[in-house]
Amino acid sequence: MTNNQYQPSEKERQNIAIKQRCFKVSGDKVFATLQGEGLFEKEGGSAGCPAVFFRLQFCNLHCGQKGGWKCDTGYTWDTSREEYWTEPEDWTIEKTTNEIEKAWNEKFADIDPKKKRAVITGGEPLLQQTLIIELVKKMPNWQFEIETNGTITPDIKLSKCQINCSPKLENSGNEKLLRHKSEVLRTINSFPISWFKFVVNNVSDFEEIKLIVSECNLKAEKILIMPEGFTLEAVNGHLKAVEKDVTNLGWRITNRNQLLWFGSKRRT
Ligand code: SF4
Repeated sequence: MTNNQYQPSEKERQNIAIKQRCFKVSGDKVFATLQGEGLFEKEGGSAGCPAVFFRLQFCNLHCGQKGGWKCDTGYTWDTSREEYWTEPEDWTIEKTTNEIEKAWNEKFADIDPKKKRAVITGGEPLLQQTLIIELVKKMPNWQFEIETNGTITPDIKLSKCQINCSPKLENSGNEKLLRHKSEVLRTINSFPISWFKFVVNNVSDFEEIKLIVSECNLKAEKILIMPEGFTLEAVNGHLKAVEKDVTNLGWRITNRNQLLWFGSKRRT
């Protein structure tokens, strides 16, 4: 509890409850942009590809709340923030498909519709995976990516989606019991298109990553290291500190290209 804790009204408390057959959508809702993270297309990834992002409310982890680096979408889960209570909306599957299509058509009307791509993000989107399964089924001509923190097992029905898993380390400030689920990582590793992105500050984080990689038998070609930071300066500083070691380990770097392309503003 902080002095700045927002006090929601009774109506706002009721509004945050999950409504049957509806996504709880965060204030960012949908936005069309370029995928900024991961490998570029020529390297087998989707960075640089046009995509509609769909941001869901709620997360089961709280990065940065008890030390460590700070989550940049705290408004999806931090109950002390006003936006957590006031911004979310309830969207049916039908409304969601319409909004995703509309966002694509407004921004990418000239692009080959075979390249339609949606990135479901959060928060932790797999907290709402029953509806995600329905959404994916309803939009067979779209390629889906799901961003997850690796603590909830994705259903096999989502195995055609690209899973962008970002397992959290000690540097995130979450307790190990909450953030580390080896059986979940093993399942994601078995999905044909899956990546493991680790956020690092310096090479001291690598020992922890090596343990996870070996315990869960993660494929080296799926390991991506992302320098932590909200600003280009911070990211570049962390990048310099780890670049050589990443290459030596046979892993790869993913930068936060969205910072380079669009700056550090929230996307709405
Ligand atoms: S897992 Fe992701 S959304 Fe959840 S608190 Fe951590 S960074 Fe934020």
